[in-house]
Amino acid sequence: MQSVEILIELFRQQGLKITPQRRMIFELLAQDASHPTAEEIYQRVLSAMPDVSRTTVYNTLRELVALGELAEVEDLGREGIRYDARTHDHHHLFCMKCHTIIDVSREFHDLELSPEEASGYQIVKRQVTFYGYCPDCRADQAGQYH
Ligand SMILES: [Zn+2]
Ligand SMILES: [Zn+2]
Repeated sequence: MQSVEILIELFRQQGLKITPQRRMIFELLAQDASHPTAEEIYQRVLSAMPDVSRTTVYNTLRELVALGELAEVEDLGREGIRYDARTHDHHHLFCMKCHTIIDVSREFHDLELSPEEASGYQIVKRQVTFYGYCPDCRADQAGQYH
């Protein structure tokens, strides 16, 4: 995701209106590495701007994805799509208990499919997810046995 000023310019070029709500969504996303859901983003905007509509937030997220400025992280838990302002290739650690997602920046150089495995697909993105339990959830689990 590029800077808020560049996003505003991109939206203008697409003929999309820049409202204070949209600007706030850009700013929230630019600072947020938690991979929030659309609903979480909506609730955060709502707490500062009570007149924002859910449709505005969802449409803005969809437009950012269409522009390639926001990535969708596949459904890893029950919460549906999560949004990721880091749009370049990277990987994730996912906590199976609290659904925290954190970024893993390591390159996996042999993450390749043979032509047979690729089955004629043109591969455009590779993403590895490591599933486990975060330190907080591990501490909770350990607490159950003492
Ligand atoms: Zn956890
Ligand atoms: Zn990420």
